[in-house]
Amino acid sequence: MTAYSSARHEFTGTANIFLDANENSFGSPLPENYNRYPDPLQLKLKEKISSIKGVPAHNIFLGNGSDEAIDLLFRIFCEPGKDNILIFPPTYGMYEVCAEMNDIKVKKVSLTESFQLNLEATEAAIVANTKMIFVCSPNNPTGNSINRNDIEVLLNNFDGLVVIDEAYINYSKQKTFIPELTEYPNLVILQTLSKAWGLAGLRLGMAFAGEPIINYLNKVKYPYNINTVTQQLAIEALGNISSVNNWTKTTVEQKEWLKDELLKLSFTQIVYPSDANFILAKMTEARNIYEFLSDKGIIVRDRSKIILCDDCLRITIGTPDENKQLLEALKVYNS
Ligand SMILES: *Cc1c(COP(=O)(O)O)cnc(C)c1O
Repeated sequence: MTAYSSARHEFTGTANIFLDANENSFGSPLPENYNRYPDPLQLKLKEKISSIKGVPAHNIFLGNGSDEAIDLLFRIFCEPGKDNILIFPPTYGMYEVCAEMNDIKVKKVSLTESFQLNLEATEAAIVANTKMIFVCSPNNPTGNSINRNDIEVLLNNFDGLVVIDEAYINYSKQKTFIPELTEYPNLVILQTLSKAWGLAGLRLGMAFAGEPIINYLNKVKYPYNINTVTQQLAIEALGNISSVNNWTKTTVEQKEWLKDELLKLSFTQIVYPSDANFILAKMTEARNIYEFLSDKGIIVRDRSKIILCDDCLRITIGTPDENKQLLEALKVYNS
């Protein structure tokens, strides 16, 4: 296919009169002007990300959240009604939703009791039309990182794409797979500004991959998928890395504190180890606790009906004050 060629795409020189895109040349009825279409390839923003992540700009794709990259991967690499993908439940729900929306079958190999990959079952589940494997590490909702060696076994032996979702990598003791991009042409890494960077409302997801894959993503995406405001604010935010590092450090400290405190409560059975900004906790009567908390205006995520997560709540680490209030409420429930 030929990609849509936008006016701003075709012109690369310098000019100061733009009469090529049928924009309103007068301006916008706002304090700032947004009358011009945004850069379709977000080059300035990619340069900034490149300098932080150590990835060349031509190995970066930006989407309207990671969700856009996930959807585009299905549309590019899978044929509806014919192909399938592999996921490892319990994991992020979007892979399956996106697959179903694109009429792609989902094969599931559940994680082991310790929330790691079952490589034998994985090998058995892969068939000729298996095109992608999604590995979420650190995993949502379990919080743990997937063993690096196991992911490398997939990368070395699977013919299709291995997509590693690193949405929570900033909180993890494990290292990103970004340095491995040069080794593996079938590797796609997803990261996002929605979690540690505190920009969920801006909607900016990143995919890192070899140039052939990035070129396909750019070809299939909507021409102006990242709006001007998001591009400008993301560049500004990426310059403030120190506050992000401070929040991340506090979150990790608070996570340890909350874990210790939860374990003192009689209804807490297990607090699973977490490399993310949330913890998964097994509690007697998880649903009742969920409802008790939500009556008090504190919302956590009830995961108690999910495979391997019986009676589990997923609790995001908040500010120290929020975490204290959560704990006080749980103590009331306990008494
Ligand atoms: C939160 C989350 C994302 C982020 O998605 P965005 O669309 O970038 O907000 C991606 N993957 C996982 C596993 C997540 O938990």
